Amino acid sequence: MTGATKTRDLRTGRPLWTDSPGLGVPVRPLTRSLSVDIAIVGAGISGALMAHELSQDHSVAVLDRRPPLTGSTMASTALLQWEIDLPLTTLAKQIGAAKARRAYIRSRRAVDDLAQLVARERISCQFKTKSSLYLAGDDHGHRALEAEAEARAAIGLDSRYLGPAELRDRFGIERTGAIVSTGSASSDPARLAAGLLRRAHARGARILSPVEVTQAASDPDGVTLLTDAGHAVRARSVVFCCGYEFPKAVPTPGARILSTWAMASKPRQPCPAWLRDMLVWEASDPYLYLRMTGDGRLIVGGEDEDSADALQDREKLKRKCSTLAAKLEALIPGVGFEMDYGWAGAFGSSATGLPNIGPVEAMDHTWAVMGFGGNGITYSVIASQIVATEVRGGRDPDADLYRP
Ligand SMILES: Cc1cc2nc3c(=O)[nH]c(=O)nc-3n(C[C@H](O)[C@H](O)[C@H](O)COP(=O)(O)OP(=O)(O)OC[C@H]3O[C@@H](n4cnc5c(N)ncnc54)[C@H](O)[C@@H]3O)c2cc1C
Repeated sequence: MTGATKTRDLRTGRPLWTDSPGLGVPVRPLTRSLSVDIAIVGAGISGALMAHELSQDHSVAVLDRRPPLTGSTMASTALLQWEIDLPLTTLAKQIGAAKARRAYIRSRRAVDDLAQLVARERISCQFKTKSSLYLAGDDHGHRALEAEAEARAAIGLDSRYLGPAELRDRFGIERTGAIVSTGSASSDPARLAAGLLRRAHARGARILSPVEVTQAASDPDGVTLLTDAGHAVRARSVVFCCGYEFPKAVPTPGARILSTWAMASKPRQPCPAWLRDMLVWEASDPYLYLRMTGDGRLIVGGEDEDSADALQDREKLKRKCSTLAAKLEALIPGVGFEMDYGWAGAFGSSATGLPNIGPVEAMDHTWAVMGFGGNGITYSVIASQIVATEVRGGRDPDADLYRP
């Protein structure tokens, strides 16, 4: 591998996946009022997983004010990880050891469940099981990572600490330590969501767009949604899967919206061979992460900022991509990254890195899903499981972990 990192003019700031094949989803406009068992607001990955699950035994309508998949899902770099933003050891101090253990184990299971779902439904979305390499950084150094690997191993998670010599020998990376873990994955998030929506549609789910939900009112028998065009959608249950575009009716205590940046190389990017099977991220703030796609592109992201507006700034996009490229070059010298796409997106965070999944306060028959943190898609899987169980009248044993 030789050559300095090159960047060329950024296209339009469009995410890589906007040019993916197979994104077609059968949508239609809402031309009259409607009555269904379940109305899902939002046609991103959360709404797609929810619709896929609930359309098995309910009539479902998915409503989106934009074309499906054009929210945060299209911007996602889709590292499908069970490793939560906060290390197990830190999360245990915040919410207690037993709950932290459950949160990690539930996330681990969610990635497996998603892999099985994709295989069962034969969704073509570049889904690939991968290991992850979590590098020591300025947030958590090598001692903290060593303790973290031990804590994870103690609850049966496959994480192993690497010292600097082994890290250098196996990966050519100069850091004070790292954790290698099995059981993560990556995918094309837009194709994944499109595939799920198509399967839900084949079971009778209606995907309605453009339809903006402007009001929601519940009563003992159900919920009535009002749309911008003045139609009413009556449902026995409603699930808001609105990503980081919080509806006014849904309180979001402690939530923050961040801007984050990512870029992708051209296909067949020269890279160390091990990177094809590995997700790389670091314990730093701001952090860097990287992974490869099936066609050999290298995706690099991070540089989050605590601002909901920064993502609109085109000059900042250029600067952020230069910073990401410089950090990549420092991590993998001589990689010669040639940028093809660079983009920004909105991201949510909560104090624990855990999502908010649960009933909406002061409303009946209404749930909201907010998949905060770096594991947004893993949380979308968990949300579809918890909410579907509750809609069916059951109780998920981990639901308490994700209540706002
Ligand atoms: C750059 C970037 C990188 C990321 N990387 C990762 C990663 O590596 N791994 C990971 O797990 N997660 C990652 N995430 C987070 C992940 O992408 C999100 O958690 C996930 O896509 C959220 O999906 P969603 O369906 O909940 O929201 P969205 O995809 O945003 O969908 C919400 C939909 O709701 C619609 N909507 C909102 N309000 C209304 C309304 N009132 N009426 C009608 N429709 C409405 C919107 O139009 C939108 O289409 C990343 C995010 C970004 C931006």
